[in-house]
Amino acid sequence: MCKNVVRIFVIILSALNLGIAQIPNQYGLTIISDLQKLKETIREDPNKALVPIKDYVPNIALDIKYATAQNVFYTQLYKKPAALVRLPVAKALGAVQKELNAQGFSLKIYDAYRPYSVTCQMFEILPDTLYMGLPWQGSKHNRGIALDLTLINLKTKKELKMPTPFDALVYAAHPEFMKLPQEVIKNRELLKSAMKKHGFKVDPMEWWHFNYVSNTTFELLDIPFERL
Ligand SMILES: [Zn+2]
Repeated sequence: MCKNVVRIFVIILSALNLGIAQIPNQYGLTIISDLQKLKETIREDPNKALVPIKDYVPNIALDIKYATAQNVFYTQLYKKPAALVRLPVAKALGAVQKELNAQGFSLKIYDAYRPYSVTCQMFEILPDTLYMGLPWQGSKHNRGIALDLTLINLKTKKELKMPTPFDALVYAAHPEFMKLPQEVIKNRELLKSAMKKHGFKVDPMEWWHFNYVSNTTFELLDIPFERL
């Protein structure tokens, strides 16, 4: 009897919880940190599914820098390597990869979906308002629609020469920077044009960062990889 009352109470509480509006954080941002809430949004719009890139992009290489301490923050920010994006982003990336594979190249992913709390952690370590994702705005990585990536040779798996290493916070990382060897410009332009053709826009400060352009509002997420 008593157990049943508790069970009913729990069911009512869960139902109420689902109906409660998300409470904005200290910056006024509404962030989904609950897996059930994310699943609700996916039920309403299946394009909001957060999917592993490797399921949609054959031959994709992963080099998730923030799952190691070999990054600009000298800190391991992810417990394990993971590369997830929203469904239409994965499909578009598949189309980019198909085109590049035909030319003997492949994409290599440095970062994809990034939980909001990691963006805040990054800003704490490196409070740079020019290059960093801002905690009071949230980043497109937090929405699952941004990618950091480069090109590799499909056979040798070696990276093509690009203007700078990943996350180099320098002027030469700007995607329009031209004081570079012809080969480097050619490689960067190949990446830019293949991504642009399938709906991605390069960041004005970082040749490796691309946002997926969409009319859908993809919510900011703060769900760790191990719960996804
Ligand atoms: Zn990025």
